[in-house]
Amino acid sequence: MVPRVVFGRGSFNQLNDILAPKRKNAKAPFIYLIDDVFKNNIWLISRIELSYDDRIIYISSAEEPKTSQVDELVEDIILSTKERPSGIIGIGGGTLLDLAKAVSIMLTNEGESHEYQGWDLVKNPAIYHVGIPTISGTGAEVSRTTVLTGPDKKLGINSDYTPFDQVVLDSELTKGVPKEQWFYTGMDCYIHCVESLEGTYLNEFSKSYGEKAFELCKSIFLEGALSDVESQEKLMMASWHGGMSIAYSQVGVAHAMSYGLAYVLGVKHGIGNCIVFDQLEEFYPEGVQMFKAMKSKYNIELPEGICRDLSDIELDTMINVSLGLEPLWENALGKGWKQKMTAKKLRELYKKM
Ligand code: NAD
Ligand code: ZN
Repeated sequence: MVPRVVFGRGSFNQLNDILAPKRKNAKAPFIYLIDDVFKNNIWLISRIELSYDDRIIYISSAEEPKTSQVDELVEDIILSTKERPSGIIGIGGGTLLDLAKAVSIMLTNEGESHEYQGWDLVKNPAIYHVGIPTISGTGAEVSRTTVLTGPDKKLGINSDYTPFDQVVLDSELTKGVPKEQWFYTGMDCYIHCVESLEGTYLNEFSKSYGEKAFELCKSIFLEGALSDVESQEKLMMASWHGGMSIAYSQVGVAHAMSYGLAYVLGVKHGIGNCIVFDQLEEFYPEGVQMFKAMKSKYNIELPEGICRDLSDIELDTMINVSLGLEPLWENALGKGWKQKMTAKKLRELYKKM
């Protein structure tokens, strides 16, 4: 679990005070990895106090994080710093948060990041790392994983060293998120809740977080509004609780299929989950019905026909990536899932998208 968290409108102002005692010495800088959407955002950037060799690296989140990108960043940081950094601070959405987690792990572990995709493969503790979400929904700020696309799979580095040492939850940072993206990333949280609460891995720990996040999502996406402060605060906590819920259970069919879309077509996580979930009435009847109501309240139009022109080879790859995520299928459909979800059935589902 994340050991330290501050919450509140304006809490980003505490960042410099939080970091100061963590500075090892003048040669060990803080490295800020920041979504490049904030590059000219004086309101945010002017509040970061850079000292000594501290550095901001702006990163585009147009594509999801790759293992090669992590390795390049780590090399750049090692070559440009006199000593191992005092800390890595990730500011942005799931993309930047995952990059910050992965870079902090790879600064203390040998080899390349794809070697650590999986469960509990990380040997050494990561360097101090701080997560500051600027969009709510993925739960990446609280989770035990950093999801990376590697040479042969999209899979997280899941380890006890992955979670942030410190998180700052300031909902004011989310105020500029465009409507569509707000919906897609918010729905990631909603889908985490449905998949956790409807899954066979469910337990009281996951349930207590999942139910709270589900209630928050319902109130935001059926009654709230993107621009109201209360909804922004609620969504930030929904994201946190949704992340906590899946941390002790698993996601399900939508995530398993969305990973296939991401791997073959590069479809991003939030929108990919929405495209898939929209077609999953058979598996999550009530959840999908409510999703459609939320979609219509905010006039969200999802892309259609994205799998229509795929070759057989591409579809097979998509199916194999998806079916490879065994714990997700087992959570969703139980131990006998292989009888219920076949390559043929999955192909039919993908063809609808
Ligand atoms: P994102 O980080 O990719 O950002 C989406 C878009 O929103 C980008 O264009 C970004 O520039 C923009 N944006 C972010 N904050 C903004 C702001 N305040 N104002 C204006 N624009 C803003 O989106 P995401 O949905 O948060 O993250 C998706 C990533 O998270 C995927 O790579 C996925 O694999 C990962 N993920 C990780 C976990 C985990 O537990 N580690 C869980 C779910 C998803
Ligand atoms: Zn997700």
